[in-house]
Amino acid sequence: MRIILFGPPGAGKGTQAKLIEKEYNIPQLSTGDMFRAAIKNQTPLGKKVKDILDSGKLVPDATVVELVEEALDDPRFEDGYILDGFPRTVPQAKAFEERLKKKGRKLKGFLSLEVPDEELMKRILSRGEGRADDTPEKVKVRLEVYNEETAPVLNYYKQQGVYRAIDGMGSIDEIYARIKEVLDA
Ligand code: AMP
Repeated sequence: MRIILFGPPGAGKGTQAKLIEKEYNIPQLSTGDMFRAAIKNQTPLGKKVKDILDSGKLVPDATVVELVEEALDDPRFEDGYILDGFPRTVPQAKAFEERLKKKGRKLKGFLSLEVPDEELMKRILSRGEGRADDTPEKVKVRLEVYNEETAPVLNYYKQQGVYRAIDGMGSIDEIYARIKEVLDA
């Protein structure tokens, strides 16, 4: 099963992806986690993207697409995966769809976690993960970047016919139950 978990920063993508991963036994691939690991390990990629992550802006499409392509070639993703944080721009979505087509694979769903802006800021500032980009100024930039560059991905997937809206308000369990309903259908 191949799933994209989509939504603005703070919508709960990472939390929900981990729950799906555990219950359905599908590995999660989070581009944000990959970048943070690269920065922590001071790899060439980490050095290249550190300032970008710190600023709250997006890593260039070519870099992200190459990273995801390479990662997905790992046999552990052969039977499926949950994408968290990718695709985040329309060019990334197009590159990903191209890959699926080439491999003869289909996306089970594009699940869009929908949460109002005011709630997002509140959630991020209270989650206390110690992320350098979880300050009010950086969150503001990330929400702006989301609205300008990432939100158009929604329309792209609406046209593909796999878009499913998930109400992202409520408890973690309530939101997960809504996701399960879609995945089990
Ligand atoms: P996240 O953990 O998904 O919130 O991602 C943290 C940061 O990593 C983002 O603010 C971006 O700087 C970078 N990033 C993660 N995924 C992508 C992506 N698909 N495209 C561009 N930048 C990304």
